[in-house]
Amino acid sequence: MKPKERMKIPRQEMHEQDAAARAKNFCEVNLGYAGPSACKEAERCLQCKDAKCIRGCPVGIDIPGFVDAVARNDLDTAAEILLSENVLPGVTGRVCPQETQCEELCVRAKKGDSVGVGHLERFVADWAREHREDLFEPPPPTGKKVAVVGSGPAGLTCAGELGKRGHAVTVFEALHRPGGVLIYGIPEFRLPNVVVEAEVETLKKRGVEIICDVVIGQTYTIPELLEEEGFDAVFIANGAGLPIFQGIPGENLKGVYSSNEFLTRVNLMGAYQFGQTDTPVIKASQVAVVGGGNTAMDAVRTARRLGADPATLVYRRSREEMPARIEEVKHAEEEGVTLKLLHNPIEILGDDDGWVRAVRCQEMKLGEPDDSGRRRPVPIEGSEFELPCQVFIEAIGTRANPLLTQTTPGLKVNKWGYIEIDDNNMTSIPGVFAGGDIVRGAATVILAMGDGKNTAASIHKYLCGDEDTTETLEESAVAETT
Ligand code: FAD
Repeated sequence: MKPKERMKIPRQEMHEQDAAARAKNFCEVNLGYAGPSACKEAERCLQCKDAKCIRGCPVGIDIPGFVDAVARNDLDTAAEILLSENVLPGVTGRVCPQETQCEELCVRAKKGDSVGVGHLERFVADWAREHREDLFEPPPPTGKKVAVVGSGPAGLTCAGELGKRGHAVTVFEALHRPGGVLIYGIPEFRLPNVVVEAEVETLKKRGVEIICDVVIGQTYTIPELLEEEGFDAVFIANGAGLPIFQGIPGENLKGVYSSNEFLTRVNLMGAYQFGQTDTPVIKASQVAVVGGGNTAMDAVRTARRLGADPATLVYRRSREEMPARIEEVKHAEEEGVTLKLLHNPIEILGDDDGWVRAVRCQEMKLGEPDDSGRRRPVPIEGSEFELPCQVFIEAIGTRANPLLTQTTPGLKVNKWGYIEIDDNNMTSIPGVFAGGDIVRGAATVILAMGDGKNTAASIHKYLCGDEDTTETLEESAVAETT
């Protein structure tokens, strides 16, 4: 097909569950492409020689390669290309912010809509899950043992990449199920647990061992893993899951949750099916959530599904400054979530029995840009009012949990408690590496995966001394530009 013909094809929309119906259930919102739409979407790709989209992908997927295979309806080849670089494609196809990564760099984005790389990735991953279980042959063992702390996207990716190179990998996970935020944070209606579980199973088939209910820093320390348990290297990928609270009066009232606790109850512990499961969650008719990121969106959309009306998101800046993905905001509004932009909660108010009854909010206006480049929210004097709610959820961010770092002598952390690493992702302790949110601070799934992948190459070099054939993100970016 000539480029002119490709340019004429409009972007293929993905079907979604009807908004009114989905506001009452936890089934996935996006329904995925059918085969013909996927082929048509793939035909829109211009197959650029200097494919900028690859530079926008922290795990370096050969995007034109797998998209071309989809266009030819050769899904075996598409799956082989995609899975050779990405161990969690069903996850990234669903939750990656493609609009600010690969799709932003797509040449078609300059003249309209980019190629739907994320939608195509999801399509191929879902097909491969059904049809290509045979994709991985375990390599000969190297005799080296690596411990990975945490089974989020950074830990799982590092484990998968090390497994591919023949190292014996054991992932230690504090919770009772692997997946990190993918399982306990991101709700079922955006990322079904079965998708994460299937991709974790694939890793296990590659020889990765996952041991749950083990808290590193308590059950074993990092020095114990190296000196007593016989591991040759350790990758720390324990995330940054400690909730931050606003520090306003009333946070000890009954009905106040951190977004982490609220989402963990619902997603990991199945509280939305309480009765069939043991974990309850407070279902209130009026719920307010403070924050403007993906976590806040997930919490407010979850509250809506549990029956809140109104389910209100309170955010102190305007829509333009919201860090949440545009699609999440659109979906939330379609589902009936109320957005109270340029508002800030300043006090949580309780009734005589100590339950939340309202939150006192203040109106804000935008002032000069702050250090983040976003315009600073400035309170408007005398604008306070009460917003009635029985549950109030704080979703303003998370930070590093000091449990592991404080039990690891000699491990350097910065002033915020995040682990310091060198250019090879090695920490101040030889043989101990780190990546993902515990190094970057709260970031994204694909950046955590990029860290896991690059660190696996560094660990391989550390253990075996030989150069790795896998390019790091930085190396592939240099190769593209020179
Ligand atoms: P995590 O995913 O946090 O995994 C760390 C794992 O380590 C956890 O399983 C934890 O239990 C375990 N652990 C912690 N301490 C220990 C210990 N001492 N011993 C053993 N195990 C331990 N990003 C996107 O790209 N798109 C999105 O749509 C998106 N939505 C999000 C929604 C929510 C609700 C949240 C909270 C985050 C979201 N993010 C999103 C961000 C993204 O999920 C994180 O950046 C990413 O998961 C970080 O990966 P990680 O592997 O570093 O850590």
